[in-house]
Amino acid sequence: MISATENSAWTLVVSKGQSRNPKKRELEQAVAEMGQQLEGVQVLVVPHLYDLPKGSESYKKLSELEGNLIVVSWIFSRAAHWVLDRNGIQGQIGEVLLASGEDDADEATEDAASVEEESNGESDAAQRVTDLYPRTSRTIHCIDLKLTDQSDRIRSEIERIIQVAQQAATTGGSLPIVGGQLVQIDEQTNRRWYPVIDFDRCTNCMECVDFCLFGVYGVDGVENILVEQPDNCRKGCPACSRVCPENAIIFPQHKAPAIAGANTAGDEGFKIDLSQLFGAPSKGEDPIEVAARERDEQLLLAGRDTVGIDDQLQKRQADRKQSPKDELDRLIDQLDALDL
Ligand code: SF4
Ligand code: SF4
Repeated sequence: MISATENSAWTLVVSKGQSRNPKKRELEQAVAEMGQQLEGVQVLVVPHLYDLPKGSESYKKLSELEGNLIVVSWIFSRAAHWVLDRNGIQGQIGEVLLASGEDDADEATEDAASVEEESNGESDAAQRVTDLYPRTSRTIHCIDLKLTDQSDRIRSEIERIIQVAQQAATTGGSLPIVGGQLVQIDEQTNRRWYPVIDFDRCTNCMECVDFCLFGVYGVDGVENILVEQPDNCRKGCPACSRVCPENAIIFPQHKAPAIAGANTAGDEGFKIDLSQLFGAPSKGEDPIEVAARERDEQLLLAGRDTVGIDDQLQKRQADRKQSPKDELDRLIDQLDALDL
């Protein structure tokens, strides 16, 4: 059994996918077995992290771990990081260099990267939640299994991550060697659908609380935004992700990469539809109108009255348009200029 006192410096967490695809199961197993062979690494195999409830055995086990984590899962690495964070498994985002290696991804992501680079020239004054509440110094490296079907490539990346950390270690000592442990937790999960907040982006503006009429969001004891009732979220509804001014709301299982948590800079090598950044579902559509329509669809399905673009939403959006140009406005202008 893995315990806090027996922690090695690194734990490889293998988060199993939702599908029963045998190829996916094989890759998960190959990665777990490979991890066992690595010096100083213990392996924990759990069901799909997104589907697990907070009080699950898997999260209890994860919360006992004190060292750095390498997490492999079938969702975007940004999504995996913030799924863990909402469940109390917190740390700094660890670098992952593994990319899909597909040529056609490069061109699409270069545009996005250049947009982000240009915007970085301007200072962003907005304070993020993690500026106010910094996470602990342990690193969590999330690897997206969709990037490759070769366990060797994943092994190389894991070895690289550990090597870089060892070289950077100020103590000069080598990491304790505990390798070879493998713990597998099999617990029943159901497919879930709820928003996950990227607190490196969130400015605590409360737009999502006001917009969602299903009581999903709330605030914690220090008035920070919180996904309070995740299972109140309507399956398939991504509406609030379109109204979040910071593109901070992730639905890890959504088919659009921009909503599912792909990095806008595209550094995971995925082709990203730039028109979907900041909520626009496709070219020419107003994200706020689409969000209001999607919310109405869910209200109707729930047997409630529709609200359309209500006065409050209209006022907030109007205020936003009148406010001085900020980084987001500049990004949108640059996306428009790309003429997608
Ligand atoms: S709308 Fe976005 S930025 Fe504002 S509180 Fe919600 S998640 Fe955070
Ligand atoms: S997706 Fe829809 S139901 Fe779910 S939190 Fe957002 S607005 Fe509410």
